[in-house]
Amino acid sequence: MTEKKITTKVRVYSYNELTEEQKNLVDLAREATTHAYSPYSNFKVGAALKLDNGEIFIGANQENAAFAGICGERAALYAAGAKFPGIPVKAVAITSFTRGEFVVEPTAPCGVCRQAFLEFEKNGHPIELILAGKEKIYILDSFQATMPLSFTDF
Ligand SMILES: [Zn+2]
Repeated sequence: MTEKKITTKVRVYSYNELTEEQKNLVDLAREATTHAYSPYSNFKVGAALKLDNGEIFIGANQENAAFAGICGERAALYAAGAKFPGIPVKAVAITSFTRGEFVVEPTAPCGVCRQAFLEFEKNGHPIELILAGKEKIYILDSFQATMPLSFTDF
């Protein structure tokens, strides 16, 4: 038996340490939380992503009584893919708002969203992942970093 060690590098920033482009995505993601429809979870997720062509898309989680809603970041991703198919995603910022304030610890995307974004990285275009908490901002270089044993053999 051998062991395989898997590590993921997460850089932790404050808002003021971000680039202007990163700040803009975080600002838009925070604003997008106000567009969430989340009467069941009361957990509002906002996302903002930027494509390589400069276009920006926002998304917010949308729930329903059948519990078949969609996460905020995936809503943004699919809107971008529908309007600009094949254009790589450069970066995405995600944040969450609940109980009257933005979450303290940055919220990581669910497994379905990780898989969805991972497939947009397949052509060698890593997507910068910016996870914004109330004060701390986590940045990962790619979605592959969130799924080291991912399902990509297709
Ligand atoms: Zn998700």
